[in-house]
Amino acid sequence: MRVSVVGAGLGGLALAQGLRGAGIDAEVFERDPGIVARFQGYRLVLDLVGFQAVRDCLPARWHPLLDEIVMDASAEQLILDPQLTEIGRLGASRTGIVVDRQVLRHLLLTGLTVRTDAALTGYDVLPDGNVEAHFARRDPVAADLLVGADGVTSAVRSVLSPRTTPTDTGVRFVIGRTPLTDEFVSLSKAYGSKVAGDGVSLLLGAMRFRTPPKRAAEQLAPEVTLPDIGDYVRWAMILPPDGLPADLTARDAVLSRMDGWHPELRALIEQADPDNSALLSIRVVTPGERWPSGPVTLLGDAIHATSPTGGNGANTALRDADLLRRCLIEVNEGRQDLLSAVDDYERRMFDYGAEAVRGSLAKLPAFTPGALSDC
Ligand SMILES: Cc1cc2nc3c(=O)[nH]c(=O)nc-3n(C[C@H](O)[C@H](O)[C@H](O)COP(=O)(O)OP(=O)(O)OC[C@H]3O[C@@H](n4cnc5c(N)ncnc54)[C@H](O)[C@@H]3O)c2cc1C
Repeated sequence: MRVSVVGAGLGGLALAQGLRGAGIDAEVFERDPGIVARFQGYRLVLDLVGFQAVRDCLPARWHPLLDEIVMDASAEQLILDPQLTEIGRLGASRTGIVVDRQVLRHLLLTGLTVRTDAALTGYDVLPDGNVEAHFARRDPVAADLLVGADGVTSAVRSVLSPRTTPTDTGVRFVIGRTPLTDEFVSLSKAYGSKVAGDGVSLLLGAMRFRTPPKRAAEQLAPEVTLPDIGDYVRWAMILPPDGLPADLTARDAVLSRMDGWHPELRALIEQADPDNSALLSIRVVTPGERWPSGPVTLLGDAIHATSPTGGNGANTALRDADLLRRCLIEVNEGRQDLLSAVDDYERRMFDYGAEAVRGSLAKLPAFTPGALSDC
């Protein structure tokens, strides 16, 4: 069996790793000109389902390395005012695993065949039931199954399910990171907390590695090369619709909403790493109508893009990857035919995927009063 995976995000790479581990031929096609072509380095919190899913997709010999590059999430609790006085609690303790997305992505890339500069433009289902993918600057590639793991603007989805389109919530999100130096240790109660300002929220999370990832790989799995990065604070400001002053950089836009805030909070943003901040729009995709059964399917944000305030997009993409991997192993071992296996995957994924989107939207108004919760 041959599987073409479109998109080298967390979901597509986890699937490709899982298939490779099962001896299934998988090739990944990525639109970016290189695998590290743009900022992808924020901190993620995985729940136990998402973490177990990615673990199961990776070879067991890398599990010690995986465990070394993550940390437990705890105390993700407080609501603070801009002077760092506690004014509330976010709710029940959020347990999970904190991981740097860029580091996890490098681990997932190891050993895979990834074709970069390969933007999918469309596909055809062939008379023999196979599928042929078309790319902007490459020859077509045929496979038994084409998996669109190509994110919120999915080109695969636009052919497979053209009426499923992203909805822009209007909410903007500025994300960045600042090296975790001694100067910011005193802010520690703010890490994992929400600072509630006038119409905006600033979310802070520390990423502290037990061992620097590059060294951890050298010690535990020398065939893996991980990026050389140190501890940092990930900050993210959620801005209401029209809350972004024009003509400002992402960092300056955040500072413009922090007049009179605690000097250490302002210093944290002022010292942000300029190459690692970005302004994002929050768009969601809700799985709606099912498409006719065939050799093409979707996973991750391509079919259920959540608001980052839900903290569940990567978890759900990884859950998809693991579920689809298991279904395709059934096919490879002759216990099920391909189309029924894909159908099983899609039925289950549609249910929990739609729930993940609903859950993330329900949390949006708590972060920004002007947000839509019913899109
Ligand atoms: C700031 C931020 C913080 C987040 N925090 C969390 C968190 O704490 N916990 C959590 O669970 N989730 C979190 N998420 C969500 C999570 O990052 C995403 O849901 C997850 O990465 C989606 O993975 P994916 O593989 O489906 O898609 P993506 O990571 O979007 O990957 C899609 C890939 O497809 C490629 N591509 C696109 N079009 C084409 C094409 N035509 N041809 C070929 N390739 C193409 C893209 O270049 C990209 O590499 C966060 C998201 C953001 C933005």
